[in-house]
Amino acid sequence: MVAYFILFATVILIGIWGLQVVMLNYFYGTMKTNQTKEVVQELHNSYKTKSTDRFLKDVEHVSDTYDMYIYVSSYDGTAIYFKPSGNDISRLPGFENEEDANDDGVPYKYAAQIQTLRKHMLNGEGSAYVKIKGADDSQVILAYGGLLQSKDKEHMAIFMFSPLWPMSSTVRILASNLVLVTIIALLIACLISVYLSTRITRPIRKMEKTAKRLADGEYGIVFKGGHYSELVNLADTLTSASIELEKSDMMHKDLMANVSHDLKTPLTMIKSYAEMIRDLSGDIPEKRNQHLQVIMDEADRLNGLVNDMLTVSRLQSGKLTLEASDFDLTESVDNILNTYRVKELDSSYTFNFESAGEFYVHADKEKIQQVISNFITNALKFCGDDKTINISLIKKGRMVELSVEDHGSGIAPEEIDHIWERYYRSSSNMVRETEGSGLGLSICKEILSLHKIQFGVDSTLGQGSRFWFQLPIVKKPVNS
Ligand code: ADP
Repeated sequence: MVAYFILFATVILIGIWGLQVVMLNYFYGTMKTNQTKEVVQELHNSYKTKSTDRFLKDVEHVSDTYDMYIYVSSYDGTAIYFKPSGNDISRLPGFENEEDANDDGVPYKYAAQIQTLRKHMLNGEGSAYVKIKGADDSQVILAYGGLLQSKDKEHMAIFMFSPLWPMSSTVRILASNLVLVTIIALLIACLISVYLSTRITRPIRKMEKTAKRLADGEYGIVFKGGHYSELVNLADTLTSASIELEKSDMMHKDLMANVSHDLKTPLTMIKSYAEMIRDLSGDIPEKRNQHLQVIMDEADRLNGLVNDMLTVSRLQSGKLTLEASDFDLTESVDNILNTYRVKELDSSYTFNFESAGEFYVHADKEKIQQVISNFITNALKFCGDDKTINISLIKKGRMVELSVEDHGSGIAPEEIDHIWERYYRSSSNMVRETEGSGLGLSICKEILSLHKIQFGVDSTLGQGSRFWFQLPIVKKPVNS
């Protein structure tokens, strides 16, 4: 930053040096020439439009204002007016004393030039610009001669001499001033840049150190941004990132603990039941079948868990896409329920399914079925002693709402927002019967969000929960 500031100051200073010191003479010359041309035009106009007296007044004014020597003569060469006259002639370069002027007060040097200019004019050119040397060679005088014309007046001739003062002393003064300005400007540039860079870089360095601590696995870190809003925003973002990181790290640790526990339990069961079959029940068909059923159930549990983990990893890598088709939701629910009805016979669960006929929807059939199964599995896990699960399809405007309701433990209000999060399992859900990965609802949420539809849960602690989602109804396809 210091380097950039100094570079910036240097470029500006070089520009000023170039313009003021090196180019000053050139600028002054061009400016003076342009000015003289403008004045010449002005006087020509004045002669054309004004009386001779008024015109001469203008000549006087111009001579005073622009520091010019002006000589006006009649067409045949008789002097009519010259300014400055005898006494103040010495003001002009080349007139150090009065003797330099002739009897008319016209300086000799100019008298000669006037003759030259007159010759040019009389040659038919009308007007002429000439640069003449002053008393010493460094001095230049810009001379102009022109014919003044007006319809109702005699023609006259005007000669103007505009000294171009040598700029060397001015340049010298400017240069010495600029040296001072340069030093001050560079000093200020240094100070400002050092000040700014410390204000900007110090918080960045601090953040870098804090980030290193975060990388080392330290959590609960707050980033501080300093004075600038961009840095404050960056620090806030980093702080919330560190909080998220901590959360996800905790969740992963939890998951590892849960998963290893969840994997281990069925494996232990499978192993011990297999041993039991080998040592005890192998020859008693009834017992053996019971034990084999346990092994199969546990293997299913393992399968489900691994499937969930695979789905989550696919969701995380954004590889899950929808393959939508038109299908009858009622039929799908029926099919799913058929697989669950086995449980109904086994352990007296009651499934009530209500639907007012067919409801065709356009969605990813397999994934929607996965969501419904998940809702039903959860309802089974959490329905408590009531063991009744109500599933319904209700038409709501152009939508059909599927809901899965149980009358079990319900969900505490403080937990209801979290149940859709990955790896979340409510605090009261640690019994083996209701074991799960905490992934089911997060998968449901991803799938339903991908469909861009509304979904949710209504739950009262101790009274049960109702999980629902809504899909737009479509026309029944012709070929089904
Ligand atoms: P899990 O595999 O643990 O069931 P889910 O993501 O399916 O994971 O559910 C997350 C949590 O939400 C569960 O652990 C449970 O606490 C709560 N939950 C889900 N469904 C119900 C329900 N029907 N009744 C009460 N709590 C529920």
